[in-house]
Amino acid sequence: MSSPLPVIAVIGSLNVDFITRTTRVPAAGETLIAQSFDIGFGGKGSNQAVACARLSRPKPSSSSRNPGETGRPSPSVDVRMVGAVGSDPFAEGFLAGLRQDGVNVDAVRRLEGQKTGIANIIVEEGSGENRIMLAANANYALKAETLLPDDADVAVFQLEIPLEVVLHNINEAKRKGLEVILNPAPAVPLDAAVFKSLSHLIMNESEAAILSGMSDEEFGSADLDDIASNFLVRGVRNVIITLGAKGVYYHTSPWYAIRKPGTTLAAARATVVDTTAAGDTFVGAYAVAVAKARALDDFDVDAAVAFANRAAARTVERKGARAAVPWLDEVDRVAD
Ligand code: ATP
Repeated sequence: MSSPLPVIAVIGSLNVDFITRTTRVPAAGETLIAQSFDIGFGGKGSNQAVACARLSRPKPSSSSRNPGETGRPSPSVDVRMVGAVGSDPFAEGFLAGLRQDGVNVDAVRRLEGQKTGIANIIVEEGSGENRIMLAANANYALKAETLLPDDADVAVFQLEIPLEVVLHNINEAKRKGLEVILNPAPAVPLDAAVFKSLSHLIMNESEAAILSGMSDEEFGSADLDDIASNFLVRGVRNVIITLGAKGVYYHTSPWYAIRKPGTTLAAARATVVDTTAAGDTFVGAYAVAVAKARALDDFDVDAAVAFANRAAARTVERKGARAAVPWLDEVDRVAD
């Protein structure tokens, strides 16, 4: 399997989201009638693959949503999802949905006798608070073996599959000379050795705090340049910390010039409806910029971060996770 386009491999989770909206959360032993219920296909891996695919082509017209049909806009990158689903009735619909978005799912394993990963999400409508119960299922049946497609140029990882699987494949990706992007979510403290394999580390503030060994309070009063420097000296090439409505901080200096301050870019203008998947959109958009630049051997971190920042701002204007991820033309036509 080899592609004329730059190839992004997203190695990560696929979860079916069961989203129940309620006026309040039931107490122990209580049964409540929910306001609404939805099923969505998510998981950080899958959401980031969808973001890569959508942000590499304009939205197909409704008459050409079939991937085989002529007239479908050509992508600028080839996106491969790598992961596992079960053999239950959810799996086929999940993969069909990814294909429809332009994600190649040939490297998603269908594990006999396993269940697809499930996220039970209860949204309390009044407060907007989420409570999430995750059953990793097939995601955690992946083994620490090489899962990367041979022709991958960029490898994108999160931490919703077993850590040993992520670490093994990060090492492999580094050994093969790929651009390695890690979005350490959900965050756990990581061994210092992993950082030298990372071309790009993209995390939100609480993830940055955990990886820095700080409490949220300590992180709040720390200097972002100092935080970033710790990762740069360990070998990360580009450190990006997303700051929610405050935008994004990034630092890319080589280790010998890290006294230079990093850059903070304000969030793009947005009317906030639901911030779910803003982070996943950011990572997907950034990965597309990395992949395109790799083909030209010309990476511009300022342009990559600005594009990701604009794409993520579009996501917060729509409800839902995957449903909120924009297509390329929905980002480019907005001037910020
Ligand atoms: P989530 O878990 O909700 O997907 P996250 O915690 O991983 O998100 P954030 O730092 O909250 O990530 O947001 C990621 C990016 O989304 C920000 O860097 C910014 O570009 C964009 N963003 C988030 N909130 C807003 C907002 N209110 N207005 C505009 N852009 C936003």
